[in-house]
Amino acid sequence: MVTPEGFLLDVDGVIVESWQPLPGALEAISDLRSRGIPFRFITNTTAKTRRELAGTLASAGFEIRPAEILTAPSATAAYLRANHPGKKCFLIAKGDVDEDLDGVELVGDGGEVVVIGGAEENFTYDNLNRAFRMLMDGAALVSMHRNMYWKTQEGLTLDAGAFLAGLEQAAGVEAVVVGKPSPEFFRAGLSELGMHPEQVAMVGDDVRNDVLAAQDAGIQGVLVRTGKFRPTDLEGEVRPDRVIDSIASIGDLLA
Ligand SMILES: [Mg+2]
Repeated sequence: MVTPEGFLLDVDGVIVESWQPLPGALEAISDLRSRGIPFRFITNTTAKTRRELAGTLASAGFEIRPAEILTAPSATAAYLRANHPGKKCFLIAKGDVDEDLDGVELVGDGGEVVVIGGAEENFTYDNLNRAFRMLMDGAALVSMHRNMYWKTQEGLTLDAGAFLAGLEQAAGVEAVVVGKPSPEFFRAGLSELGMHPEQVAMVGDDVRNDVLAAQDAGIQGVLVRTGKFRPTDLEGEVRPDRVIDSIASIGDLLA
């Protein structure tokens, strides 16, 4: 493995679990800082803004600035600024997501880009039909992720991917998906680091959405044996560039 000069780090299952620091994670992050190794956090969550995430991580003892965290909404903003500069965007999402969409003009009608996030009850007939009409008028379709469902304390819960598929089918278009595992998300991380893929390693606990997806973007993929890691992850077709016991061993990658 080539010695990385910078890192992209997953959050859940890598530095925290249930928002509590994993053993050695606080030290690992401060060690990277004292060595002057650049890094960014890269996470698919659309539930919290970067500011809220930084606050939650601060409660866990991490000193992390909101600007050091790439969320699917922040990556979507970077994607929109780069690929649809100045375009009017119609957003279907929930919560304070628009806070992370700096420099993006949001409109209720006449959208030139339809942007989909984890909207839950905001996936109303009215919102979806507006989006459909904009797509039929030639608007581009961009989604923060394509997750079909996730799990809450109440049980499995329908996510944005199902509504996205409906819009794609009806309008005969295909969305650009910006969150993990999309290469676009990793490119946004590289752009924040100001580095080329071969200089960077992605450290995550998800063998597909972190490790394989990073490798597909030309980035080295490092799997940790924490979080959702299972030994069977190493029996599939994905071959991580390195496997480490936890983020506490990140220094080994620099040796
Ligand atoms: Mg994870």
